[in-house]
Amino acid sequence: MDDALLEQATVKLREAGVRMTPQRRVILEYLYQQRNHPTADDIHREIGAKYPEFRALSVTTIYNNLKTLKKYGLIKEIYTQAGIARYDSNIDHHHHLLCTVCGSIADYYYPLRFPVDELRIDSDFTVEDIYVELRGICRLCKTQPELQAVSQPDQKVT
Ligand code: ZN
Ligand code: MN
Repeated sequence: MDDALLEQATVKLREAGVRMTPQRRVILEYLYQQRNHPTADDIHREIGAKYPEFRALSVTTIYNNLKTLKKYGLIKEIYTQAGIARYDSNIDHHHHLLCTVCGSIADYYYPLRFPVDELRIDSDFTVEDIYVELRGICRLCKTQPELQAVSQPDQKVT
Protein backbone atom coordinates (compact mmCIF):
# COMPACT_ATOMS: atom_id res chain seq x y z
CA MET A 1 0.00 0.00 0.00
CA ASP A 2 2.78 2.40 0.91
CA ASP A 3 4.51 1.58 -2.38
CA ALA A 4 1.42 2.49 -4.40
CA LEU A 5 1.11 5.78 -2.50
CA LEU A 6 4.80 6.52 -3.01
CA GLU A 7 4.48 5.72 -6.71
CA GLN A 8 1.50 8.10 -7.02
CA ALA A 9 3.43 10.77 -5.15
CA THR A 10 6.43 10.33 -7.44
CA VAL A 11 4.19 10.76 -10.49
CA LYS A 12 2.55 13.84 -9.01
CA LEU A 13 5.94 15.45 -8.32
CA ARG A 14 7.26 14.49 -11.75
CA GLU A 15 4.26 16.12 -13.42
CA ALA A 16 5.13 19.30 -11.54
CA GLY A 17 8.74 18.97 -12.67
CA VAL A 18 10.00 18.13 -9.20
CA ARG A 19 12.26 15.20 -8.41
CA MET A 20 11.40 12.57 -5.82
CA THR A 21 14.69 12.65 -3.97
CA PRO A 22 15.66 9.90 -1.49
CA GLN A 23 15.05 12.42 1.32
CA ARG A 24 11.54 13.27 0.16
CA ARG A 25 10.82 9.61 -0.33
CA VAL A 26 11.89 8.58 3.16
CA ILE A 27 9.93 11.44 4.76
CA LEU A 28 6.79 10.50 2.82
CA GLU A 29 7.26 6.82 3.56
CA TYR A 30 7.50 7.64 7.24
CA LEU A 31 4.40 9.85 7.12
CA TYR A 32 2.42 7.17 5.30
CA GLN A 33 3.31 4.71 8.05
CA GLN A 34 2.84 7.09 10.98
CA ARG A 35 -0.51 8.75 10.76
CA ASN A 36 -0.07 10.47 14.12
CA HIS A 37 0.62 13.99 12.82
CA PRO A 38 4.28 14.28 13.87
CA THR A 39 6.23 17.54 14.10
CA ALA A 40 9.39 18.16 12.02
CA ASP A 41 11.41 17.32 15.13
CA ASP A 42 9.56 14.02 15.57
CA ILE A 43 10.17 13.14 11.93
CA HIS A 44 13.85 14.04 12.24
CA ARG A 45 14.32 11.90 15.34
CA GLU A 46 12.31 8.93 14.09
CA ILE A 47 13.88 8.82 10.63
CA GLY A 48 17.34 9.01 12.20
CA ALA A 49 16.48 6.09 14.47
CA LYS A 50 14.79 4.00 11.81
CA TYR A 51 16.95 4.61 8.75
CA PRO A 52 20.69 4.78 9.58
CA GLU A 53 21.50 6.04 6.07
CA PHE A 54 19.46 9.17 6.78
CA ARG A 55 20.86 9.84 10.24
CA ALA A 56 22.85 12.83 8.98
CA LEU A 57 19.77 14.65 7.67
CA SER A 58 19.35 17.95 9.51
CA VAL A 59 16.02 19.21 10.85
CA THR A 60 16.31 22.10 8.39
CA THR A 61 16.59 19.69 5.45
CA ILE A 62 13.60 17.74 6.75
CA TYR A 63 11.67 20.97 7.16
CA ASN A 64 12.51 22.22 3.66
CA ASN A 65 11.44 18.91 2.15
CA LEU A 66 8.20 19.00 4.14
CA LYS A 67 7.55 22.45 2.67
CA THR A 68 8.06 21.07 -0.85
CA LEU A 69 5.79 18.07 -0.20
CA LYS A 70 3.17 20.43 1.16
CA LYS A 71 3.50 22.81 -1.78
CA TYR A 72 2.67 20.02 -4.23
CA GLY A 73 -0.28 18.78 -2.22
CA LEU A 74 1.22 15.53 -0.97
CA ILE A 75 0.88 16.37 2.71
CA LYS A 76 -0.92 18.89 4.85
CA GLU A 77 0.54 21.11 7.53
CA ILE A 78 -1.65 21.60 10.56
CA TYR A 79 -1.30 23.84 13.57
CA THR A 80 -2.81 23.31 16.96
CA GLN A 81 -3.10 26.08 19.50
CA ALA A 82 0.37 25.19 20.76
CA GLY A 83 1.60 26.72 17.49
CA ILE A 84 3.84 23.85 16.42
CA ALA A 85 3.46 22.69 12.83
CA ARG A 86 2.51 19.06 12.46
CA TYR A 87 2.40 17.03 9.28
CA ASP A 88 -0.36 14.89 7.89
CA SER A 89 -0.09 12.56 4.91
CA ASN A 90 -3.85 12.14 4.89
CA ILE A 91 -4.87 14.64 2.22
CA ASP A 92 -8.53 13.59 2.19
CA HIS A 93 -10.92 16.12 3.66
CA HIS A 94 -11.07 15.37 7.37
CA HIS A 95 -11.11 16.89 10.82
CA HIS A 96 -9.11 16.31 13.98
CA LEU A 97 -9.67 15.14 17.51
CA LEU A 98 -7.09 16.83 19.73
CA CYS A 99 -6.42 15.39 23.17
CA THR A 100 -5.79 18.25 25.60
CA VAL A 101 -3.94 15.92 27.99
CA CYS A 102 -1.35 14.17 25.80
CA GLY A 103 -1.56 16.34 22.67
CA SER A 104 -2.34 13.42 20.38
CA ILE A 105 -4.28 14.17 17.19
CA ALA A 106 -6.56 11.62 15.57
CA ASP A 107 -8.35 11.90 12.25
CA TYR A 108 -12.07 12.42 12.32
CA TYR A 109 -14.36 12.14 9.33
CA TYR A 110 -17.57 14.07 9.11
CA PRO A 111 -19.63 13.71 5.96
CA LEU A 112 -20.76 17.32 5.64
CA ARG A 113 -18.62 19.91 3.93
CA PHE A 114 -18.21 23.34 5.41
CA PRO A 115 -20.36 25.67 3.23
CA VAL A 116 -17.48 27.88 2.03
CA ASP A 117 -19.64 29.64 -0.57
CA GLU A 118 -22.12 30.76 2.05
CA LEU A 119 -19.50 32.29 4.30
CA ARG A 120 -19.13 35.98 3.70
CA ILE A 121 -15.39 35.90 3.45
CA ASP A 122 -13.50 38.95 2.28
CA SER A 123 -12.75 38.42 -1.41
CA ASP A 124 -9.10 39.20 -0.70
CA PHE A 125 -8.91 36.06 1.35
CA THR A 126 -8.56 32.74 -0.45
CA VAL A 127 -9.71 29.73 1.52
CA GLU A 128 -7.35 26.81 0.96
CA ASP A 129 -8.50 24.40 3.61
CA ILE A 130 -10.98 24.14 6.43
CA TYR A 131 -10.96 21.69 9.25
CA VAL A 132 -12.49 21.56 12.67
CA GLU A 133 -10.41 20.72 15.71
CA LEU A 134 -12.49 18.94 18.32
CA ARG A 135 -10.82 19.13 21.71
CA GLY A 136 -11.21 16.63 24.46
CA ILE A 137 -9.62 13.68 26.21
CA CYS A 138 -8.55 10.62 24.25
CA ARG A 139 -9.37 7.06 25.20
CA LEU A 140 -5.84 6.31 26.43
CA CYS A 141 -5.77 9.35 28.67
CA LYS A 142 -9.12 8.38 30.15
CA THR A 143 -8.09 4.80 30.84
CA GLN A 144 -4.38 5.26 31.66
CA PRO A 145 -4.01 8.87 32.82
CA GLU A 146 -0.74 8.30 34.69
CA LEU A 147 0.95 6.83 31.60
CA GLN A 148 -0.18 9.45 29.13
CA ALA A 149 0.39 12.62 31.13
CA VAL A 150 4.16 12.15 31.14
CA SER A 151 4.54 10.83 27.58
CA GLN A 152 4.50 14.10 25.65
CA PRO A 153 4.62 16.96 28.14
CA ASP A 154 5.96 19.43 25.54
CA GLN A 155 2.88 18.97 23.40
CA LYS A 156 0.47 19.48 26.23
CA VAL A 157 -2.18 21.98 25.27
CA THR A 158 -3.59 24.36 27.79
ZN1 ZN B 1 -4.57 11.76 25.27
MN1 MN C 1 -5.20 14.18 9.97
